[in-house]
Amino acid sequence: TKIIITIDGWSSCGKSTLARGLAKELKYVYIDSGAMYRAITLYFLRHHVDWSDNASVQQHLADVSLEFHHNAHTDQSEMYLNGENVEYVIRDLVVAEKVSEVAALGPVRTFAVAQQRKMGARKGIVMDGRDIGTVVFPHAELKIFMTADNAIRVERRFKELYAKNPNITIEEVKSNLEMRDYIDSHRAISPLRQAEDAVVLDNSYMTMEEQLAWAIKLVHE
Ligand code: C5P
Repeated sequence: TKIIITIDGWSSCGKSTLARGLAKELKYVYIDSGAMYRAITLYFLRHHVDWSDNASVQQHLADVSLEFHHNAHTDQSEMYLNGENVEYVIRDLVVAEKVSEVAALGPVRTFAVAQQRKMGARKGIVMDGRDIGTVVFPHAELKIFMTADNAIRVERRFKELYAKNPNITIEEVKSNLEMRDYIDSHRAISPLRQAEDAVVLDNSYMTMEEQLAWAIKLVHE
């Protein structure tokens, strides 16, 4: 029988890599909840939304449509914002610099969580994020909480971003990760927390294969 698997944790711990690997192995659907917050942030930035104004936030959210579509070439699901493929733009540091502010807004979380729960109505999903095991699916059968050494996380994300933008500096990446982790774990609504029934995975010194084997074993327990 298929289950719901949640993967939460700090920024750039490799949550999405593990989630994708698990979904592929189990023939489950992978859902990147962070992509949804990033797409909303992109929309707000493009439309110059003043997000300190609750009414304005509500009004603009009504015009936001989020969908995941499978890309046959990469065999990966990609984020679409109002019909436009934004999978690549939402990874920019410009979006990363604002996403934690936007994700802390009540109406934004209500909007995103409702859609995430709908996607999980059918079992057989792996969803990663910050509040998936605590808020979105508190009854999930398997909850994983990921962490890794700070320096290792910074280096991983730097390599990823540098490949697309060689002007980026390691200091920028480091301060963005620190800022997001701080805001995400201190916000009033659904802060980043380890669920009481979550299993912790510190992957600082683990290969992808080791992480996958560790998680698959838990699924079959
Ligand atoms: O997972 P990713 O790093 O792409 O997420 C980007 C941001 O979206 C996080 O730093 C956090 O502010 C927000 N987020 C969230 N809740 C989730 C997933 C992401 O608040 N479930």
